[in-house]
Amino acid sequence: MGDAVNIAEDYWGAQFKASGQQFRPIRRIVPYQREGEVACGGQALPRNNAVYCSRGDFIAYDVNWSVAAFRQVGDAFVFYLLGHEYAHGIQARLGIRSNFTIQQELQADCMAGAYLGDSVRSGVLKLDTGDLDEFREGLLAVGDDPDQPWFAEGSHGTAEQRTDSFFRGYENSLDACDLG
Ligand SMILES: [Zn+2]
Repeated sequence: MGDAVNIAEDYWGAQFKASGQQFRPIRRIVPYQREGEVACGGQALPRNNAVYCSRGDFIAYDVNWSVAAFRQVGDAFVFYLLGHEYAHGIQARLGIRSNFTIQQELQADCMAGAYLGDSVRSGVLKLDTGDLDEFREGLLAVGDDPDQPWFAEGSHGTAEQRTDSFFRGYENSLDACDLG
């Protein structure tokens, strides 16, 4: 997770700098293991989840769940997970609030894709082509798993929509993500 966080901070720092804005990294990354160990705005976080909490400006994630998902989905997953939650922090910084949660979620998937794709293109991050295939298949698989609420259908979009948004960002960078 540490690499993913450092790369995200550098990536978004450079994006903000390029548009003449100050960048403030997300304050804390908080791994947790038990339900209720971490709360966001007074609400206890459930197991098997990851979240960006705007009250407090931190990302929290169930560490056991993310390790299991990482094993199932492969190398790119941790970057996707962190990239997605980090993107919510960026949306908050940019004052982006869509009318529908799903737009906000799919945009975060696109931004996660851009962060990952751009980092691979700039040589900061190395991924094999096989990692991405594994990743695409893995995401479709976790979409079907009821024990994975983070990826559950509903307000986040179907596994297919999410994968599409991610790869749009991965291939075309932030231009594909309607940041305005
Ligand atoms: Zn989200």
